This record gives sequence, C-alpha cells and structure tokens, in this order.
Amino acid sequence: MQVLKFGGTSVANAENINKVVAIVKQTLKKEKAVVIVSALGGVTDLLLDAAALAADGKEEYKEKLSVVEQRHLDAVKQLIPVAQQSHLLSLVKQSCNEIEDLCNGIFLLGELTARSKDRISSYGEWLSSQIISAKFEADGIKNTWKDSRELISTNSVFSAAEVDFDATNKKLNAFFSPQTDSLFILPGFIASDKNGITTTLGRGGSDYTAAILASALNADTLEIWTDVSGMMTADPRLTNNARIISDISYQEAMELSHFGAKVIYPPTIQPVMNKNIPVWIKNTFAPGDHGTVITNTNEKKLPTENGGIVRGISSINNMALLSLEGSGMIGIPGFSKRLFEALSNEKINVILITQSSSEHSICVGIEALMADRAKQIVDTAFSNEIELNKVEPLKIETDLSIVALVGENMKSHPGISGRMFSAMGRNGVNIRAIAQGSSEKNISAVISTKDVRKAVNVLHEEFFETTYKQVNLFIVGTGNVGSKLIDQLQQQLDFLQKQMHLQVRVVGLSNSRKMLLDEEGIDLKSWKKKLEAAPAADLQKFIDEIIARNLRNSVFVDITANDQVAKVYNQLLQKSISVVACNKVAASSAYDNYKKLKDLAREYNSHFLFETNVGAGLPVIGTLNDLLRSGDKINRIEAVLSGTLNFVFNNYDGKRKFAEVVKQAQDEGYTEPDPRLDLSGTDVMRKIMILAREAGEKIEMNDIANNSFMPESCMKGTVDDFYAAMAKEEQHFKSLYEKANAKGTKLKFVASFDHGKASVGLQHIDPKHDLYHLYGKDNVVLFYTDRYKEQPLVVKGAGAGAEVTASGVFADIIRASKV
Ligand code: ADP
Ligand code: ASP
Ligand code: MG
Repeated sequence: MQVLKFGGTSVANAENINKVVAIVKQTLKKEKAVVIVSALGGVTDLLLDAAALAADGKEEYKEKLSVVEQRHLDAVKQLIPVAQQSHLLSLVKQSCNEIEDLCNGIFLLGELTARSKDRISSYGEWLSSQIISAKFEADGIKNTWKDSRELISTNSVFSAAEVDFDATNKKLNAFFSPQTDSLFILPGFIASDKNGITTTLGRGGSDYTAAILASALNADTLEIWTDVSGMMTADPRLTNNARIISDISYQEAMELSHFGAKVIYPPTIQPVMNKNIPVWIKNTFAPGDHGTVITNTNEKKLPTENGGIVRGISSINNMALLSLEGSGMIGIPGFSKRLFEALSNEKINVILITQSSSEHSICVGIEALMADRAKQIVDTAFSNEIELNKVEPLKIETDLSIVALVGENMKSHPGISGRMFSAMGRNGVNIRAIAQGSSEKNISAVISTKDVRKAVNVLHEEFFETTYKQVNLFIVGTGNVGSKLIDQLQQQLDFLQKQMHLQVRVVGLSNSRKMLLDEEGIDLKSWKKKLEAAPAADLQKFIDEIIARNLRNSVFVDITANDQVAKVYNQLLQKSISVVACNKVAASSAYDNYKKLKDLAREYNSHFLFETNVGAGLPVIGTLNDLLRSGDKINRIEAVLSGTLNFVFNNYDGKRKFAEVVKQAQDEGYTEPDPRLDLSGTDVMRKIMILAREAGEKIEMNDIANNSFMPESCMKGTVDDFYAAMAKEEQHFKSLYEKANAKGTKLKFVASFDHGKASVGLQHIDPKHDLYHLYGKDNVVLFYTDRYKEQPLVVKGAGAGAEVTASGVFADIIRASKV
C-alpha cells in the first residue's frame, strides 16, 4: 500500500489532474494506493479571502466566489465526459451556493470566527477530491471516495487542530480493514472535532493528512507530489542556485521544514518517522526525476551533497524579538519560567530562545503577529518588578527573520558557525540574535527581513557552491578605461567562473548621461545599445538602488575622474559594499576623508581599493602594502609616476613642438581628461601623496613641494587656451630640453618621498641613474626600505593607457571579490 498526496499546483486544473491520474495509474500497476488531494491550487486562498472580505463588509467576496465556482466547473467540463457531468456540476453548484450562504451570513454579522473559516475553506479539498474521484471512475478505474472528516478526529482548535491519534487510528482501521478496492481518494487538510464540527489541520495540512494515513495503514511509502523535484538546499524562490537534496533524514527534514522550507508541512514527518516509512518528495511535472527521499539516518549515514556538512538553509519571515532585560534578574531563579508561562498561557509559540550567561537579558523570538499581545501579558506578569526597576518593560523589535543552517553532521564539525557568521558579516548582514541547540542540528540567526534574500544566497554560496561565488558589479564611467574594462570582463567571464570560481555580473552601469540596472546581469555584448536606451543618470538614485537591492558580494567600480562620484563611497562602504576606484579624487582628498574611507572599509568588512591611482595597472600600492604587512618599513620612494610626462619628455627633442607632443599623449589616451593636471605636476603630487599615505604618513597636498616647469600663462582658461599658450611658450620648453641634453642627461619629472617629506619636479637624470632608462609612457617606482637598503625594490612598466589601467581595475575587482 502506498499513500500519495498531490498538492495544490498538481491539481490546479484539468491538464494537471490528467498528470496526476497518469502517476496514480503507474502506482496501481504495482500496488494499492490511497490518494490525498489538496484543493485546486489557490482555492484555499480564494475562499479565505472571500470570507475576510465578507467580514469586512466588502461585496467583492462575491467575485472571489464566482472565480472558485468557475474553476471547478471548468475542471469538471474538461475532465469528465459530457454524459457523466451533470451530477458533478450540480455538486459544484450546490457547494458554491452553500459557501455563498455562509459568506452572506458573515457579511451580515461582520464577524468571522476560526470555526467559520475552517468550514468555508474545507470546501476546497472536498470539491477537488470529488472531481478527481469522478475522473478516475470516468477512466474506468474503480475507487472509493471518503470524507476525511469522518476519519480524522481532532480537538476544537479551529485552523490548527490537533489530531487525536487514538480515535483517528481506530476509525481508519475500522474503515480500511474490510475494504477490497485498490484505490481510495480522500480530501486532505480537513477533519472534525468530537462534535462533528469541521476543523482543519493548518495551512499546508494535506501533507499531514497523508502522513496520518500512511502511518495508520502501515504504508510502504508516502509520496508527496508537488511542483519541485524534491526538497532543496534552500528556498528556490530566494536563490536560483538551490539544488535538490536526494537523501535527507527525518530529523533534518523536520528542521528544514520547521524553519520555512515550505515543500513539506512540518508535522508531516512525525507520524511516518515513528513507523520508519520512507517519504518521497516527487515532482508531478517531472515524474522521472529522482526527488528526495526522507528516511532514518541512524541506519545508514547518508552522504551529504558536496561532501559538506550542512544539509540545507531555511528562513522564516515575520518574526519579532522580545527582550526581557534588567539587573534584577541576575542570579534569581524563576524569571524565565514566568516569562515562558505567560507566553504559553496566551498560546504564543516560542520559535527561538537565547539568554546571555550574564543572565541580564532573555531574548525570545515569536511570530510578529503576536508581538503586541506578548508585550501586554509580559508587562503585566512582571508589573511588580517593572515598578521596582528590577526589570525593564518588554522590548519588542519587528521586521525580523530567522535564517538557519540545518544538518545532522554539523555537531561533529567545528567552525560551521564561524563560517556562517563571517560570511554574513562580510556582506553587512547584521545578526540580532543567535541560537544553536546542543543537538546542533540547527544554527539559527535572527536578522533583518530586508537581508534575508542576501543572507540565504551568501550562505548557500558558502556551504553549497564549490562551483562559484557570484560577484555583482556596479560600474560608473564608460569612457576609455570603462569600455576596455567591460571588454576584458566579457572576455574573461568563462575563465573567472571556471578557474577562479567567480561568477562576475555587471548589474549596474552608468555614465554621466544614462544609467542601466539589471539584476540578472547586463549582457556585456550589447551594453552600449542597452545603456543608450536606459533612463537618465542620477548618481544618488543609482547608489540608492545599489543599497536597496542589497545583493551579495556587491562591488562599486568608479572609473570616472569625477569628484561627485568620489563623495558617495562612504554610503557604500558602510553597507559593506566594496569600492574599487580608478578615480583618484577620494584617495587624494583631505587626509581625514581618505582615512575615514579606509576605516569604514575595515569596520564594515568591505574593501576600498585604488591600485590604479598610481602607475595604472602596475602593482605599486599592492607591493607597498605587502612590504608593510610583512613588517618592512618604507624609508624612501623615488618614482616617475606620470606616464604622460614621461611620454612627453621621451618624445620631445626640440624639433617637434612641445604642444604637439602633449597633444599626441592626450590623443593616445595617456593623459587625465584635463591634461593640465598632468603637465602641472598635480597628478604626480596626488600619486606620491597616496603612496606616502599608504606608507603611513599623514600628509596633505600642500605639504608637497612642486618644482613646476610650466609657465603660469599656460595654466589659465580652457584646454584649448592651454594648447595655444604652450605653442607660444615653445622657446621655454626648448631651452629646458637643450640644457639637459647639453649635459648628456634626460629630463624626468620625478616624485620623491624621503623620511616623511614629499616633493615633485623636473630633474636632469644622468645615464647611471635607475630612472634614466625609462621609455615611452613607462612608470617606475623605487622603494628603499629597511630590507631593500642599497638596491631598491623596483616596479616598472607601462604606467598609463586604457588597456593597462582597465586591467588594474580588473585586478582590484578580483581582490575585492576574493575575501
Ligand atoms: P504543494 O501545493 O504541492 O503542497 P507547496 O507550495 O506547499 O506545494 O510547496 C512547494 C513549494 O515550496 C515549491 O514550489 C518551492 O517554491 C517552495 N519551497 C520553499 N523552500 C523549499 C525547499 N527548501 N525545497 C523545495 N521547495 C521549497
Ligand atoms: N489547501 C490547503 C492550503 O492551501 C492545504 C494544502 O494544500 O496542503 O493550505
Ligand atoms: Mg504544501
């Protein structure tokens, strides 16, 4: 004997019911079957909505009821041959009239009791089971339909009735023992109390009906047929990466379902576990899929997916946290007893409990709906102590949820909770309370509801996805460097996923005119067209969106030179969103701001990375940081840090005009958008300042001496004026060149940092000097440290250009992603 239960979606319409019939026919080839059905998908909600509208005095309840009627009439017409329809059609009509009468009564009274709700919602299962039974008959499969209310006895707690197993098992045995049919069809969810009044077993309760029957009839298996191919590692509606768990223990299935895995109604497990009856979760729409089998693991150690120890992740929303605090509680027994007694007297279910060992506070998680009631009764229960200031009035926090890791083997593996909390911490998920039972089958954390999706995904990545980790990029700036970066990302997506286990997606893209957001990831082949067609850019809106979307592993990438963009980093860092800046404005702003951003990154476990601020893609800041981390000390830095100036002085020989060479540098993409920043030496000052700061020096721009070679006249007006003025000053540049050339030296614009002092300026460099052999747009940085005393550590190579800068930004993105 097998018990099969088909859920709401499985019996939502005629098409699906036909699938159910085919599945049951397969079973009947082998053995007898008891089939439990839910209401047609959505019907329970429609009925309860209608009742609630009626109680609110809203006539719209009639519309809901006519949908209910139509759904059932359609099912009958499509499933049953015309000649046999009339009996069923009148059954549907008659039932719908009864429901309407009940709702009319509720409408007139303006009152809806739990008992009436049960009565009204019971029609859903009653009708669906009648129709399905008739369908089997019509297909020539003899079957017995039986009203579950005559078999399942409960107490009178309407909407969540408790089963009286003694009475129920007796009735079930009495009914089934003499039967000879092979197929029985029964409605799930509904039962009756000892006075014969209709009760229900709670939302999702058809699973429970099926388990009660499976247990009473000693079925070989219980099959729960639904719309997914089994119990999954996390709610598939929260994470796209959830996977089917092929085997799971009763205990684990119970923990997972208690903590929100809706696929099976929690009480379902108990009756079948007692009898060791395997439960299969199967997909009506893919019956060939393996599904999940729930069994007793004491007999065999089940393999965990992935070699991991965590079996699944669940969450429950709509939680409230109650905190009872006060110094008067310390060391005095009985406070928790009184708290729990007060709650239990009110039938308030406690979902989670924590108490600090200081005994100064007890923290209890309950359903949010009950929070106000809980406050009243607890404050009353402790009114004396509150008056005497021994305890404070009960504190209530709402908009909370629980996320939980579930797995029987967690107890024998240290470090699981550490990984759990640090993964959430890295993503800025604040944990309000923690609970772990000593059985360690479940580790729960209370977090803000807005963080649930992110937390479930982060944890899923941490414990289930050896395959990859998702990184969500928000890029601002699509100029030279920005477009190169997008090209490089596009080329590398496969490599990153396969080799680095990173699934990098560009979720947001903005330039000064437009902004585009797509949570599924923007197609990098057609980003230009898509961005053109996107809404107008609005930086603050873009930032608000990044924060509101609250995606895991978010990285903001600033590839502008814009000072407004640099002002938003703090908003992001303190939401644990990393910032990768090609933009130098922030790192070279006032020291206090630079420091604040670094501190925020540290405090909120985010990264603030700006390697490309110095030497484009060259690993300058990274090298400096590595030296310091390994205990070295930077004594002196000497560097040529302007790709533009190096290009200009390498190509200028007094024959071609200086202004023309500068223009060429700009055309080839080496200069800042405003080339005067390079020519004035300001850009080099910013760079040496950033290096000095990274080396630990508290330094500002005006602490840096600049021996500029540019005539004052060139630095006024527009960029065009600048080129015109340079052309006029050709003689000045020529003489600079000739003086150096006459001595056999080269002109280099050198930045130095020496024991706390920084300066920049044009120098004559002779052939013996390390800086002499520097070509094209190259940069070089010489680090003199405690360990590199005589021979400096040298970083040298192309120090400008869109391609290398983009690759430096790329490297920072990867650094920010690999935590
Ligand atoms: P039925 O109507 O068949 O009883 P339910 O809607 O009650 O189906 O349960 C199935 C749904 O449960 C799935 O469609 C899925 O979205 C949801 N679900 C939530 N958590 C999980 C999980 N961990 N594994 C599988 N499904 C889950
Ligand atoms: N129809 C009921 C509900 O929607 C019971 C069930 O489907 O399990 O809650
Ligand atoms: Mg269900």
